[in-house]
Amino acid sequence: MLIPVDEKPQFRCSACGSCCSHIRGFIPEQDRAFLKEYAFGRLPVVQLVPVERMTFPLWDWEASRFRQWGKEAGIDPRVKPLRVIYDEGKGTAIVLSYFMDAETDACPMLQERKCAIYHTKRAYVCRLFPFNRSPVSDPSSSGMDARSYFGECGAMEKILPELPADRENVVPFLMEAFPNGEFLNALQNDLTIEWSNRTIIELMQGKRLRPAMNLPYEELKKKMLYSRQVDFTDFLVECGHLSKVELDLLLQRFDENEDAREWVGGHEL
Ligand code: SF4
Ligand code: SF4
Repeated sequence: MLIPVDEKPQFRCSACGSCCSHIRGFIPEQDRAFLKEYAFGRLPVVQLVPVERMTFPLWDWEASRFRQWGKEAGIDPRVKPLRVIYDEGKGTAIVLSYFMDAETDACPMLQERKCAIYHTKRAYVCRLFPFNRSPVSDPSSSGMDARSYFGECGAMEKILPELPADRENVVPFLMEAFPNGEFLNALQNDLTIEWSNRTIIELMQGKRLRPAMNLPYEELKKKMLYSRQVDFTDFLVECGHLSKVELDLLLQRFDENEDAREWVGGHEL
């Protein structure tokens, strides 16, 4: 049944700070199980810290911005490598994502219950909440339950009961229910994950990357910690996969959620 236009609920973040106060242990149960199974040596991308210690992941270009914004705000965001590929060909650790190794469960940027860098673009993980995932990463391609897209957020009370149960209606509903772009941010983050997975495969097929796999985890971790480190996007330029100009255009595309807008366009009936 269609909801009359004037009754459609819209999300309004109450700025309670709850999501930013608990950046450790935020991972949904099914993602946690996947990481424990595959993220510690069975795939090219290897996680350097236990699932219990990790916090929100930051893409490498976001981590660079956080270091700069932290400096400007007089805060150490404690940015450390999270997911890394060890290239046996060049003996290089390629850092795909970082995390803030916060001293408490709260984000280091949270000061007196306010985000000290709210005026900046921040990171996808900051801008997509209350989403944990989007239809792009929905493991159930047919009978999906859009409730599983969301983490704990008190401002979702009016939205959750109105969620359509079918994919056909859920995308337009979420576009309208999140006028500040949280849904587009969640889509773009998932599409960027897809891009990174695709790119790693292309690099391997083009013999530009030879990831170490199936080594004992501690051995792999030692290699990663004591070898030259390079950010994934810098590596793309370094190995000739992209020019610097192409990389800048790509990051601009991600920043402007262009892939998410195209995805939504392709799902409008
Ligand atoms: S997204 Fe939800 S949990 Fe986070 S600050 Fe806003 S209302 Fe609070
Ligand atoms: S950077 Fe700001 S918005 Fe992002 S998690 Fe930290 S406090 Fe929250």
